[in-house]
Amino acid sequence: MTKGFVALGSNLGDARGQVLSALDALARLPQTRLLGRSSFYVTPPWGVLDQPDFINAVAHIDTALSPHDLLDALLDIERAAGRVRDGERWGPRTLDLDVLYLDGVAISDERLTLPHPRIADRAFVLLPLHDLAPDLVLPGQGRVADLLTHVDTAGCERLP
Ligand code: ATP
Ligand code: CA
Ligand code: CA
Repeated sequence: MTKGFVALGSNLGDARGQVLSALDALARLPQTRLLGRSSFYVTPPWGVLDQPDFINAVAHIDTALSPHDLLDALLDIERAAGRVRDGERWGPRTLDLDVLYLDGVAISDERLTLPHPRIADRAFVLLPLHDLAPDLVLPGQGRVADLLTHVDTAGCERLP
């Protein structure tokens, strides 16, 4: 089994409901346990600014799936939530599930990069990841709590 973290995001339709359903779907994946989840955050869009705010969270998992099988399972959950890939990068989506990090795993191929290469730039990932793993050191990027001090968290709000 390998422990790791998955980022969840949504900004179309019932965003909070979709993130909650995705957490359920993660818990039901084969050979996988959901160990915990962060708070939910409302966050402003990143990259493409003219779109609704997002709901973001991070899940802590323990899985016996291979990294690529885990990615395929996440893409299946996205499709089941009605995710349509229209080619626009960082555009609005019903559900986005990214593998952030798996213990001891470094991969860079055409389908999967681990650790996720853009964590250090993103308050919407670092805030929820910090709830679960402030002392996690992301190889090549740094310690989560330190990275969080260097991003702009303006407009990000933790939901009760
Ligand atoms: P970003 O990766 O910057 O967060 P995105 O999530 O909007 O962008 P998508 O369109 O959802 O990008 O995914 C494009 C492809 O990224 C996926 O089909 C997948 O093959 C690839 N990918 C590479 N590394 C990862 C990863 N760590 N987690 C999820 N997808 C990944
Ligand atoms: Ca993403
Ligand atoms: Ca993605």
